[in-house]
Parts: sequence; structure tokens; C-alpha cells
Amino acid sequence: MSRKADIENRFFDHKMETLPQDQIKILQVERLRKSIERMMRVPFFKEKFEAMKITPDSIQTVDDIRRLPFTTKNDFREHYPLGLLSVPKSEVIRFHGSSGTTGKPTFVAYNREDLDIWSGLVARFLVSGGLTPDQTCQISFGYGLFTGGFGLHYGIEKVGASIIPVAAGNTARQIMMLTDMEPETIIATPSYLLNIAEEVVAAGIDPKSLKLRFAHLGGEPWTEDIRTSIESQLPIYCFDNYGLSEVGGPGVSGECYMRDGMHFQEDCFIVECLNPDTLEPVPEGEVGELVITPLMRMAMPVCRYRTRDLARIMPGTCPCGRTGRRMTKLRGRSDDMLIIRGVNVFPTQIEIAMLSVPGTSPHYQIEVSRPGALDQIKLKVELMPEAFSDSMSVMQQFREQIAHAIYSSTGLHIQVELLAPKTLERFLGKAKRVIDTRKLQS
Ligand SMILES: [Zn+2]
Repeated sequence: MSRKADIENRFFDHKMETLPQDQIKILQVERLRKSIERMMRVPFFKEKFEAMKITPDSIQTVDDIRRLPFTTKNDFREHYPLGLLSVPKSEVIRFHGSSGTTGKPTFVAYNREDLDIWSGLVARFLVSGGLTPDQTCQISFGYGLFTGGFGLHYGIEKVGASIIPVAAGNTARQIMMLTDMEPETIIATPSYLLNIAEEVVAAGIDPKSLKLRFAHLGGEPWTEDIRTSIESQLPIYCFDNYGLSEVGGPGVSGECYMRDGMHFQEDCFIVECLNPDTLEPVPEGEVGELVITPLMRMAMPVCRYRTRDLARIMPGTCPCGRTGRRMTKLRGRSDDMLIIRGVNVFPTQIEIAMLSVPGTSPHYQIEVSRPGALDQIKLKVELMPEAFSDSMSVMQQFREQIAHAIYSSTGLHIQVELLAPKTLERFLGKAKRVIDTRKLQS
């Protein structure tokens, strides 16, 4: 039996995952009203709702969500650390924080009910991606404030599988666990799993001798080419999922075995896809910013959280039987978008174009600078060991092919520097793909 056939028809919560859309909408209205009640215990939201004359009864249909105000990252910052808490602090049993790259993190809080609901949401996408109670699962995510490590940990426990909480780092030990403990599933960032795969081969281990069959990857946006690259190095199926700490963490959506979009868990989230400038809904199937209202957050409920993540909501239904609408992989975060000489470009666009040239590896870095009056962009990319050559003309041809592929996709002329395999720094968590020195110069 093929592996795909092997994992179809697996559900953690069959009723909720296959609830017809009309019933989902009824449940969403009911749950949104209760969430507004909880939000009214937070002075910041209470004032806003009063000024806008919003009460739980203002919500009659799901579309009434558009009457509610947006919540932003800045609202979390301005109410640092716990100004958005809707329960007494003594009721909280866990805090997490977003991995803020600058300044202070933004905190989110969970009471017991929150943790129970959250682990159930994580369990759903893990099961739809192959996890069964008899498996062993290696967690190679960082733990700590980040919602990924603990979020996945308790989701796996909920399913009843066993966990090796090895955490990120110490790649030699990761490989020892893979060979000795024989986990079937691994949890990591895609860039760290690429690193592990490379080291497995370097250690002289035949990847096919591992028991590993599934990977649930997250913590950074990744492309289909990265999936293909990992799956060509390890005999596994990689699954994507989506979530962010401000709305509770991973579990907003996840891929089923079809791996054609991530199903939203719509009994617990209302998801809008809006034009980030006009804040009006984009036409069906077009790219927009995901705006998410979690319906089952107890300790820290929010509404219409502006994620800054850009994706499409896919039309149509999925043969797997799940009724939740599906989102595409993230096109990028609007915060990550680079503006180069007036052209908007996402690092993932450069990645896709670059990887379309055979022989390039998924290890790369983009450097943006402004030496004079004009922005300059340079791509440093490692070649695959078999593609690297001593011949100047072969290397020059590679540079031209990559630059041409990027120009065709983005309209940008970009300088390409080819590197020998294993030259660039490897990452244990979220990879640092872009170095923008313009901010330092201006
Ligand atoms: Zn599906």
C-alpha cells in the first residue's frame, strides 16, 4: 500500500474536521459571541466595543465580524506584558511569547481550557499528516517562549505517541536519536531538517535505513522546492502547518495527506483574507493578508488579528473529506517584503526562481545594501556538491542562469555569488536568509 493510501481517512476529531460549512457558520456565530463577552473583561477591548456600540448580540451572522475592530501586534506591545489578559493571572497556567527579533517579546497566556483546546488542534493536523499513537516522535524545535516546541509536544501527547524532546541543536545527537531511538516522525524547522539531512549523509548513514517517515515542519515560511529538496534527501513525507502565537500558536491550519493546501480549523477560527491597504476582502482565490479571529481563546481572546502573513484561500473542496477551507503556503510576511529600487519582492520569490536552476542548493543568503544612491542586491548560494566545478566557464554559466531566472520572475538584476557546499552558516531554528544593511546606513 502506498504511504498516501496508508494515511488517508485518519482523523483526530472526525466530527469537527468534517462539519458541514453551514453548521460551522452557526457554531462560529455562537462561539464569537462568547468570545466577545470574554474580551469585554479586558479594559482595552471594553472601551473600543463601547465606543463602537458592539455587544455579543451585534453578531447575527459570520459576516458581522466586519463590524469588529482589528487587533495588531502593536496592541500587544502597548499592553505589554499582560494588559490583554481577560482572566486573573492566578488562573493562567502557561505563558508563551513571540520570538520578537527586536526589543521585548509579546506575551500570550493560556488557562487549562486553552491548553486542552490547543493541544487538540495540534493533534488534528498531526494525525492528518500520519501520526499514530504507536509512533515515536523526535522534537527538534527549540522549546522556550516560542509556541512551537511546547505546542507540538502537547499535541503529540494528546495523540498518545511518545516524544523524544531533544530540542534544537547538537546535530550529532539528533542523528544518534534518529538511528538509535528510531522515531517515525520528526518536528523541526525546514532549514534545520535540511541541515540534519546533510549531516546524516556526511556521517555515512544510508537515509533509507532510518525508520523516519514523516516530518511536520514549521517556524518559518518554506516553499515547495524546499519540500522536494528534503524529500530527495530523506525518505519521508513533509507536512506544513500554520499558526502564530497571538492567536494561540500552531493549529490554525494544517495539511492533510493530499498536501494541497492547509485546512483551517474553522470551528475554532474565523479567517478573513483582506487587501492589506484597503482592508476589504480580496476576490475569491486571490492573495491577501490573513486576518484571524480565534474563537476559543479563554485567557487572552482577541478579534481580527492582523497577521501580516500573505496567502491565498483556495476555492473548492478537498477529497480528504475535511470541510475546513484551505490556505496556500505563505507567500511571505508583508513585514518580510523587500523594496529594491522601488520593486516589491519577497525572499521566497527569489528562492523559487533560484531553485528552478538545477544544481543550486537550498542554502542561500540575500544581501541588500546601498553603497551609493542605488539599492544593490546580491544572492549568495551554495551549489550542490555534484554541480560545483573548477571550470570558470561552467561557473559563469551558472551565475547567468540564476540571475536570468530571478530577473524573469522579479524584474530585478541581481548579483550572484556561487559558494562551495557547506560554506554558509547552518541554522538550528528560523534561518536568517536576508541581511539588509540599508537600515544601518540611512
Ligand atoms: Zn484535505
